[in-house]
Amino acid sequence: MKILLIVFGFFLCGAAVSQQKPNVIIILADDLGYADVGFTGCKDIPTPNIDRIANQGVVFTNGYVTYPVCGPSRAGLITGRYQNRFGFARNPIIAPNDPNMGLPLSERTLATELKTAGYTNAIIGKWHLGAHETLKPDRRGFDYFYGFLSGGHRYFPEEYIYNDLSEVTRDWDWYRTKLLRNNKPVEETEYLTDALSREAVGFIEQNQENPFFLYLSYNAPHAPLQATEKYLSRFDHIQDEKRRTYAAMVSAMDDGIGIVLESLKTNGILDNTIVAFLSDNGGPEYANGSDNGQLREGKGSMFEGGVRVPFAMMWPEMITPGQYDQPVSSMDLFAIACTYAGVIPQDTLDGVDLIPYINGQNSGTPHPSLMWVNVDKDSYGVRTGNLKLVNEESSVNALFNLQNDLSEQTPVDQPVTLQEMLQTYQDWRKSHLAPLFLGLEQRDEYHKKGQD
Ligand code: CA
Repeated sequence: MKILLIVFGFFLCGAAVSQQKPNVIIILADDLGYADVGFTGCKDIPTPNIDRIANQGVVFTNGYVTYPVCGPSRAGLITGRYQNRFGFARNPIIAPNDPNMGLPLSERTLATELKTAGYTNAIIGKWHLGAHETLKPDRRGFDYFYGFLSGGHRYFPEEYIYNDLSEVTRDWDWYRTKLLRNNKPVEETEYLTDALSREAVGFIEQNQENPFFLYLSYNAPHAPLQATEKYLSRFDHIQDEKRRTYAAMVSAMDDGIGIVLESLKTNGILDNTIVAFLSDNGGPEYANGSDNGQLREGKGSMFEGGVRVPFAMMWPEMITPGQYDQPVSSMDLFAIACTYAGVIPQDTLDGVDLIPYINGQNSGTPHPSLMWVNVDKDSYGVRTGNLKLVNEESSVNALFNLQNDLSEQTPVDQPVTLQEMLQTYQDWRKSHLAPLFLGLEQRDEYHKKGQD
């Protein structure tokens, strides 16, 4: 503890900064396309508030999540560890009676860790890390929960026809439950994205005196494509109906992030709050009208379109505005938060404190390699420097140089390097557990077993 205090003190000496531990806000979009915010080049959807985070902070031009779909990506983010280490290898089924369907109790979340430093923790929005009693947010370090346990949700409150998941008898009707406030169903009246933004501001107002962690896990712009006239009317210029509704959904989220930032400013805590914004995976362009720009493929794929996401982070007291180009990971947010909260995490992290890298004190690379695997499809990816190894059905063990081939079109012929990267990948796999549960892709098999 003594050493930590000295380290903490060292950082605080450098500038006129507050003595308090930073607040931490992680804003996670769902299925947002890489090129669908202003700071990644979007032209048809203005995102002035999301861009404030980018303009006042650091843009990670090579920012990655740990998996190309929701559940495992969130497990990596919230534990700071590759989720395969603990067998979270699939997108979970929503199974309120199954204590093994979700983030195993062996794992500590960022909320669990920050609680040891006196933080008040909230998750607002989508959980998707287990619907069983023992796996809900209140058992995983969160003091406050407003949202839903499933992997997605409908947006109009009149469609919330079930009190809770126990009443749901068909797959995907999970999306029609009432929202929960600390596990109790509530009668929500607002459009989902607006409701989550309102709750986020409410939490900030109530907790601004002491350090807090807010995990604002928007459902937007995940399907179903649903938006209110307030937002749709901003996009009359978009002809494609799918893209137009998608744009309205992104715009609603951007408005919400605007009132969150305003609340921080009004309460005088903007400067000492870490605000990170990212998507949980790439856009499924075919499904929701998203756009991954130059990146190949999208959600579900080991190509860049699946795992590289729009990612920015501001912390006015500690980060000078700019951009950072080395590969970074969503897992790094865990390490950053713990470092400046003065917490030594109990488990081995794969995330890295990026602040010394961003500020130029460390010119090395935070991650010699980043890796991804889908054990069912045997698809995987390895990023080392500018090189990316991809194994997909369409592209068996192909090596690409992202520096001049961002779209991963033309494999390069470097057999020795390819073998080394394969070896790195195989060594990494040795640290993994077998999948702990059947996933959405195996739900017929799961239902047949009657485990739910
Ligand atoms: Ca997602």
